[in-house]
Amino acid sequence: MNCILDALPYRVARNQTNGRAEKGLAMKHVIVVGAGQAGASCVARLRAKGFDGQITLIGEEPFPPYQRPPLSKAYLLGEMERDRLYLRPESFYVEQVITLRLGTPVTSIDPVEQTLTVGDDVLHYDDLVLTTGSTPRRLPAAIGGDLDGVMVVRGLQDVDAMAPRFAKGARVLIVGGGYIGLEAAAVAAKLGLSVTLVEMADRILQRVAAPETSYYFRQVHSKHGVDIREGVGLDHLTGAEGRVTGAVLSDGSTVEVDFVLVGVGIVPNTQLAEMAGVEIDNGIATDAQGRTSDPHIWAAGDCASFPLNGQQMRLESVGNAIDQAECVADNILGSDRPYEAKPWFWSDQYDVKLQIAGLSTGYDKIVTRHGEDGVVSFWYYAGDQLLAIDAMNDPRAYMVGKRLIEAGKSPAQDAVADPATDLKALLKA
Ligand code: FAD
Repeated sequence: MNCILDALPYRVARNQTNGRAEKGLAMKHVIVVGAGQAGASCVARLRAKGFDGQITLIGEEPFPPYQRPPLSKAYLLGEMERDRLYLRPESFYVEQVITLRLGTPVTSIDPVEQTLTVGDDVLHYDDLVLTTGSTPRRLPAAIGGDLDGVMVVRGLQDVDAMAPRFAKGARVLIVGGGYIGLEAAAVAAKLGLSVTLVEMADRILQRVAAPETSYYFRQVHSKHGVDIREGVGLDHLTGAEGRVTGAVLSDGSTVEVDFVLVGVGIVPNTQLAEMAGVEIDNGIATDAQGRTSDPHIWAAGDCASFPLNGQQMRLESVGNAIDQAECVADNILGSDRPYEAKPWFWSDQYDVKLQIAGLSTGYDKIVTRHGEDGVVSFWYYAGDQLLAIDAMNDPRAYMVGKRLIEAGKSPAQDAVADPATDLKALLKA
């Protein structure tokens, strides 16, 4: 679907923008690079807030903006049609007079001329938004990372390519016990594959969750037959005729495999910004309003770092991509409002829905709350202050925890832990 929506919207744009083009008035042009979650949110917000200039959304993937979370969940499992992945129908972009230019990457930016290069074209922008996302880390070729059958889960094409390998009885090694690795393990186990997961840290989810949450998911996976090995890294992969056939682990043990999924984190896509001389600090560095070191260039989503708690933070989540991109759109239109991150996240594994609100960094205590029907939630505190919540199959606890965190309220820990406490009453306290 290369540039299929290219020509029409420009034509419509001239007719629908109060005749400005006909009157010879220059139309402001906002270009958004990266047609993913943040890019789609930014362009939709610009129109929703009444921007009547020209909007171009450029993506290197050959698809209109789509949601990634189902790629390691329902879509990989074969329970979700591709059409349902798309964030908006294509007609939306036509109706909203947004030029979608797909299948070609932007290769350079000239910040002095305020132009960028895409394919053979050079386009002028008044404001440029970088929503280029991130790239999964791969294993080095020196340890077999380039063997056929060693894959990552990032895009639709990755998942379509790996889906046929998810056949009953196949043996998969998953490298990395973060959310994406665990979700892929759950899909594989449900489909009847033999699953081994190695996590080099002492426990799965160590980087993002408390030991209680790690323990919970270790139990769930073990019940489904996943062989989780913690404190064990991958030493190297072995292969035959260019295809992966096995793995040697850091404890000297070996595993025979048919394919390998690598889920060892992502790096933000900052190359374009770097080439344009934009400041990089743990991602494309922005101020609180989402503006980079170049006053005409903005950034949002996985690729962008913003000031939070005295450092440049990046959040890798759908919620962040949407909220930050909408904030940037508002600020392009002159709002001058700072981005106030309200972190939330979720993960689906088997019949467990984990919902997370807040940021747990700096916690020193976990309060456990058992709800009805075996549901449980873990509440992260620093001293008396509630920071975050992990709720397993407990949407009520999640919703209350999220609202408390966003309101800066911290309920007494013994009240939270007491199953007799009415959760909603905590909001009124
Ligand atoms: P993306 O959605 O990645 O979009 C960036 C786009 O920019 C890409 O299409 C890329 O090809 C394009 N691009 C890059 N460079 C260029 C260029 N030079 N020119 C043109 N286009 C370019 N988050 C959650 O909150 N909950 C979940 O359960 C969850 N599950 C996930 C499962 C998977 C498998 C993955 C991969 C991610 C998951 N995430 C989840 C994370 C979430 O999807 C991301 O944080 C979110 O997609 C980030 O949005 P973005 O727009 O910044 O980046």
